[in-house]
Amino acid sequence: MQKIETVREMQALADKLRAKEQRIGFVPTMGALHAGHLSLVKLARAKADVVVVSIFVNPTQFGPSEDYSNYPRPLEHDLELCAEAGVDAIFLPPVAEIYPKGCSTFVIEEAVSKPLEGASRPTHFRGVATVVAKLFNIVRPHIVVFGQKDAQQVAVLKRMAADLHLPVKFVVAPIMREPDGLAMSSRNRYLTAVQREDSVVISQALRRAQEMVAGGEHRDDRLIAEVTHLLSQKRRVRVIYVAMVDKDTFEPLRVVVPGKTLLAIAAWVDEVRLIDNVEL
Ligand code: AMP
Repeated sequence: MQKIETVREMQALADKLRAKEQRIGFVPTMGALHAGHLSLVKLARAKADVVVVSIFVNPTQFGPSEDYSNYPRPLEHDLELCAEAGVDAIFLPPVAEIYPKGCSTFVIEEAVSKPLEGASRPTHFRGVATVVAKLFNIVRPHIVVFGQKDAQQVAVLKRMAADLHLPVKFVVAPIMREPDGLAMSSRNRYLTAVQREDSVVISQALRRAQEMVAGGEHRDDRLIAEVTHLLSQKRRVRVIYVAMVDKDTFEPLRVVVPGKTLLAIAAWVDEVRLIDNVEL
């Protein structure tokens, strides 16, 4: 596995691979890797000739009171996991490589990024879109793999890539969950045992909504009321939003439209912010 730390070296590798007509599959991450990330790598391996993973904790997508400096950075373990997973090259740039002194250009998607995560983390998607546009220009992938766990991120980035005519094909991987249903996340390691117990209500509430839809319920108000009620049963859980939206535009939906509908939750479990979603 090649370890690359500079933009120049990464672009040179991309040029070399492209000259040999090798298809580059790319999985951008912030590290603290878990089985969810590895499922993305597996998909990339199946769909491309060469797999590049980036590990970059992107400062611009964190709000001022968020966990940027405390974000977990277990680098050695991440490198072992990548090597075991058959990653060909790992891109680990220092912050100054991606944001050199004086850089002043940002990418802002102005519709899909507004509600839900965008409302509660106002500068988040500006940071995500900016870093991903930069990474696309550095890694020059044919195929990129993102997780459905961050459903709004996928929708924003697909919109950005279409709007900027970026020639990349998106592959979206299903959400990997712990055996009790909790969506895997690098932030789960912040949870204490009691918080971990309460956090399972998030996926349980989403499953309950799916059952209600299977039983014939299609109205957003009734589904959202039931999900909110279930979440409120847990003392440590505070709802940030529960929303039923179009999975591409993130506009609200009043009734379930099969194949188009996403139910998304963000909640605090004490001071740990978790998100999850299901298709309805
Ligand atoms: P992150 O390191 O949190 O920025 O995540 C990197 C990529 O892994 C993103 O595309 C995430 O959506 C994806 N990802 C994170 N958690 C999961 C999960 N539980 N299942 C599938 N993909 C995930």
